[in-house]
Amino acid sequence: MAVGRASSESTGAADTGQSGTSHPGELPRMTKITGIRGMNDISPSQTPAWQMAEHAAREVLATYGYREVRPPIVERTELFRRSVGEGTDIVEKEMYTFTDRGGDSLTLRPECTASCVRAAIEHGWLREGGQRIWHIGPMFRYERPQKGRYRQFHQLDVECLGFPGPDVDAELMLILARLWRRLGLEGLELQINSLGSRPTQARYRELLVEYFQRNRDALDDDSQRRLTTNPLRILDSKNPEMQQIVADAPSILDHLDPAEAAHLDGIRAMLDQAGLAYSLNPRLVRGLDYYTSTVFEWVTNRLGAQNAVCGGGRYDGLVAEVGGGGQSAPAIGFALGMERLVALLEEASIEPPASAPDAYLVAVGDAAAGAAHALAERVRDALPELRLVVDAAPGGMRAKMKRADRSGARMALILGDDEVAARTVSLKPLRSDSQQSAVAWAELPVRLAAEE
Ligand code: AMP
Repeated sequence: MAVGRASSESTGAADTGQSGTSHPGELPRMTKITGIRGMNDISPSQTPAWQMAEHAAREVLATYGYREVRPPIVERTELFRRSVGEGTDIVEKEMYTFTDRGGDSLTLRPECTASCVRAAIEHGWLREGGQRIWHIGPMFRYERPQKGRYRQFHQLDVECLGFPGPDVDAELMLILARLWRRLGLEGLELQINSLGSRPTQARYRELLVEYFQRNRDALDDDSQRRLTTNPLRILDSKNPEMQQIVADAPSILDHLDPAEAAHLDGIRAMLDQAGLAYSLNPRLVRGLDYYTSTVFEWVTNRLGAQNAVCGGGRYDGLVAEVGGGGQSAPAIGFALGMERLVALLEEASIEPPASAPDAYLVAVGDAAAGAAHALAERVRDALPELRLVVDAAPGGMRAKMKRADRSGARMALILGDDEVAARTVSLKPLRSDSQQSAVAWAELPVRLAAEE
């Protein structure tokens, strides 16, 4: 089972059998427990950038009328087998699958579109008409971890269910362009393609297999294998030696039927009218089987090998596939990699707004320690936006003032037993030369507000 393999590999600790433990892969008692390889802790210093990105996404999506959904992280394995596809890397090699205590095969979701579709069918959301929905959360794939590629990563997932397009196809691309602008990101390139309907794909697949079979000697091992499992993915090969043979392969765009070509033209016309630049990439295929018709990706040259920030496309057959044929609906969506978005913000030196406290309260002495929280609560009642940290670690005045300074706060509020007796506090500006002054408790909110 992938889960067990991941945890023992992550620590590098072999199970010696001498630990006295009964579970396979369990660590000896005296070994430090570490996190799992490819699954990151996002530290307090990193979260402001994440929050900035998430906040911008939430706001942009709300302005377009998209509503948040929160599906569970675990689904039946069958959901992903049927939607993402048996021949894909995700299903073949990357899923965290386990049997629960009731004997059901469950999987930590490797992506979220299938969950959104399942939920929409299960709860009859589509009976109310088209649904514009989104979700942000962790996804899990047992991949080889490297920069920009993790085993737990986060996606912003946006889905338009029940709309035939091409208008919503263009809308999703415009949403992303607006998000980049809102965050101040530049240099992201939009690529689009159409994979046609299933019958078109089947015809094109035959042509492709024929072409690659003729050039079989030039294919690397991975592509030879894909020739039978997933020939379209050969077009996605990153092997430099494969680039020429891929470039000379037949183009799907020459094999679209008139309606499919018109759909793509419709998107292009809307993007042109809205002034959004894109390039047409007939080699753009995606790693999931459910896509038909429109596919698109936003790529950057600023993140090294993991250059795709966001990918999406139309999946008009998925509702019928997941729902067992009871219902069908056209749909399109995208998934944006949050780790890559945050890395782009960092690369462009786009900083989140400062999150240092406004004031830092230090109390020295027993009476002061007792009074500190009551005073702080009164200040918070009066100034709900104020960021006020109450010092909590042991130490004398010197140590406490050092922590006040290190917190980045603009002001220290110093409370000693004498101040408590006089019902005052000393307000000391930490980032200017202004003098320390005594302020009556009753006056404190007004003074702090004035210092903002
Ligand atoms: P996909 O669901 O494979 O179409 O991926 C959509 C986006 O999710 C990609 O463009 C990446 O930004 C991100 N992504 C996919 N897999 C990973 C991963 N293993 N680690 C980090 N980000 C990922």
